[in-house]
Amino acid sequence: MARNIGSRYTAHQILGRGSAGTVWLGEGPEGPVAVKLLREDLASDQELVGRFVRERTALLGLDHPRVVKVRDLVVDGNDLALVMDLVRGTDLRTRLDRERRLAPEAAVAIVADVADALAAAHAAGVVHRDVKPENILLDMEGPLGPGGAHPALLTDFGVAKLIDTPGRTKATRIIGTPDYLAPEIVEGLPPRAAVDIYALATVLYELLAGFTPFGGGHPGAVLRRHVTETVVPLPGIPEELWQLLVQCLAKAPASRLRASELAARLRDVLPLLKGIPPLDVDEPDTEPAPEPYEDDAYATAAGAAEPGPRRAAVPLVPGAAPDSHRDTHTSMRVPAPDELSGGPLGTARAPRPAGAPRPGSARHKADAVRKRRITLAVAAVVLAGALGAGGYLAASGDGEAPPQDSKQSSPLP
Ligand code: ADP
Ligand code: MG
Repeated sequence: MARNIGSRYTAHQILGRGSAGTVWLGEGPEGPVAVKLLREDLASDQELVGRFVRERTALLGLDHPRVVKVRDLVVDGNDLALVMDLVRGTDLRTRLDRERRLAPEAAVAIVADVADALAAAHAAGVVHRDVKPENILLDMEGPLGPGGAHPALLTDFGVAKLIDTPGRTKATRIIGTPDYLAPEIVEGLPPRAAVDIYALATVLYELLAGFTPFGGGHPGAVLRRHVTETVVPLPGIPEELWQLLVQCLAKAPASRLRASELAARLRDVLPLLKGIPPLDVDEPDTEPAPEPYEDDAYATAAGAAEPGPRRAAVPLVPGAAPDSHRDTHTSMRVPAPDELSGGPLGTARAPRPAGAPRPGSARHKADAVRKRRITLAVAAVVLAGALGAGGYLAASGDGEAPPQDSKQSSPLP
C-alpha cells in the first residue's frame, strides 16, 4: 500500500520505526529514498513545522559520504517528512544486539567512519548531540573495510536541534540518552562538539566490551557515573587504542580529541588490531531497578516479561510513568545535588578496581535480583520519545525540578 508524500514522493513500505516517527522505503524523482514521516503530534505542531521550514537549508546542507544525506523536507497537509538517502543495511544497534561484541578491527573501522562524519559536521558548526548505535547505519552494499566492516553512516543530524527547543522542554530537563551523555551536559553546560566525541568513544567502548562504560541501573546513577567515575579498563586491546578511549572519555571536554584527529588516530591503530577476536570481558553487575518497577506493570511496560538482560524505559523520578517503547531516549529532570551524591536514588557506584563488583550490585546482595542491564530511561515526557535525536540540557530556570504533569507522562502512541 503506497502512500503519497507531497507531490514528488511515494512511500511503499515501512523500514523501521523510530521515536520521532516511521521510516519508509520510498520512491522519488531520482530513485529510491528513505522517508522519515514525523509523528503526528510533532507534525501538527505549527511552531515546530515553521522551524523545520526555516532551518531547511541547514538541515539539507550537510553533504558528506559518511553522513546520511537529507535530500528534501516535505510539508504536506498533516505530514512532515524528511526525505533521506536510502541506506541499504541495518543500524549498528541491531548488529550489536545480534553479535553482542564486535572484533576490535571492525569496531574501530566503524567508529573511524563516524568520526569522519563528525569532523565534517563540526567543521560546519553542527553538533550532532545524539551519537549512539541507533543513529549509525551500516551500508551493506558498500565495499567491505578493515575487519570486514561495512561503511558506517551517521544519521539524524540537525533533527535534535529542531525538535528539542526550550519551548518544548522544561527548564532543567536533560534530553538525551543517559549512557552516551557527556559529563558537562549532566552538569548543565551547553553541548559543544566535544559531547559528540564523548558519545562516540562510549559507542566504541560498547562495541568492544558489549556494554557502555557508565551504563546500567537507574538513569540517575548513570548520570552520576559520567561525572564521577573513571572508565574500567578493557583487557586485551593495544595500549594505543586504550589511550584513545581514555582521552575521548575525559571528563574535561577540552581534553578530548577533535573528530578529525580521532579518525586519523583510529586508522593508525587499525593495523595492530588485525585478527584480534571479540573481547571476552565480563559485564559488571548492575544495580537492581528501583523498587516500584519490580512489579508487573513495569515488566509489561518494559516488554521484559522474559528473563535476561533488558533494555527498558525507566523514569528518573520514582513514581513517574515508565515509557512504553523501546528506545534509548530519555527526558528527565536534572538530579538534585543530594541525588547526585547518592541520596534518595541510592545507587551510587564508588570507583572500584577493574572487575570488582559494583557496590550495591547483585553480586553484593544475598538475594541477588537477577543480573541485568537497564540502559535507558525515559519519557516521563512525550517529547522525550519525540527526540529522534538530540541530547542536551534545556538548562536555565531555577534549578528546581518541575513536577511531572499528566500531559507529559501520557504514554507514547
Ligand atoms: P528515530 O531516530 O526517530 O528513532 P531512526 O532514524 O532511528 O528513527 O529510524 C528507525 C529505523 O529506520 C532505523 O533503525 C533504520 O533501520 C531505519 N532507517 C532510518 N533511516 C534510514 C535510511 N536513511 N535508510 C534506510 N533505513 C533507515
Ligand atoms: Mg534515530
